[in-house]
Parts: sequence; C-alpha cells; structure tokens
Amino acid sequence: MPDDTCIFCRIARGEIPCAKIYEDDKVLAFLDMGPVRPGHALVIPKEHYANLPETPDELAPAIFKACKLVGKALMNTVGATGYNVMQNNFSSSGQMVFHVHWHIIPREEQDGIKHWDQGTYADMAAMQSLAGKISASVEH
Ligand code: 5GP
Ligand code: ZN
Repeated sequence: MPDDTCIFCRIARGEIPCAKIYEDDKVLAFLDMGPVRPGHALVIPKEHYANLPETPDELAPAIFKACKLVGKALMNTVGATGYNVMQNNFSSSGQMVFHVHWHIIPREEQDGIKHWDQGTYADMAAMQSLAGKISASVEH
C-alpha cells in the first residue's frame, strides 16, 4: 500500500531527492545510496507494489527494458565488464525496502564480490522428487 512512509514512493514523487539515471512513464532508476560498488543502481516502478508477487505482469517490459539500459550504461561508464540483476522478496530474503526494486550491480573480473555458497543434492532422484513437489504447487 503506498503511503508517506514508503521511501521509494517519495523518491518516485520527487519529494525526496535521488541521483536519477533513467525514467519513463512507468519506471525510475537511480543510484543506491549504499552501493555494493559505485554505480550500483535501483530500478523501481513508479507505482507502489511491495514485492514481485504483487507486481502486475504488465510492468515486466518496462522493468526489463530499464534493467538492460542501466546495465549497458554501467558498462559504458564505471568500468563494468558485467553486472548482476538482483531482486529480494520478503524480509527473509534480505528485503529492507518494501517497494519492489531491482538492484543493478556493476561487476568486473576479480572485484572481490563473492557469490553465495552452493550445496548439492544426494542424487538426481532427490532432485526429481523435489522438483515434482514444487511443480505440483505451481499455480498457473
Ligand atoms: P533491499 O535489501 O530492500 O533489496 O535493498 C534496499 C536498498 O535500498 C539498499 O541497498 C539501500 O541502500 C537502498 N536505499 C534505502 N533507502 C534509500 C534511499 O533513501 N535512497 C537511495 N538512493 N537508496 C536507498
Ligand atoms: Zn512505495
């Protein structure tokens, strides 16, 4: 629900300043004030949606386009040779601002940023079994 306490709604309305990178009628991109690396940007819809499951599918093209434009601009400016697009949902994932947003993080070789540790499955049967359970609960 949009309200005056949502910091990203206030940024989208221009009530709080941001270091703007890009906007169109649906989305806004600006620098994250706590960057993983300089150039770390956020892409947000101008309308308030708390997280990805609440965001209408119709917004996807505008978000997708903005992520690609910002990523390319980072590769043209801050020496990035790649970038991560990250998006957190609910507090357990690390989401702190409950206005949906996509992080665009500029990367280069040997930049010291470590991806999370990965585990394994016992075997392919364990993978198939889990995939079957998840698949059965997909709501089309
Ligand atoms: P989350 O953990 O919710 O995915 O990430 C929220 C991000 O928003 C953080 O990286 C944080 O630095 C950034 N952030 C929070 N408040 C502000 C703000 O007022 N302005 C800007 N530019 N970034 C913010
Ligand atoms: Zn909001």
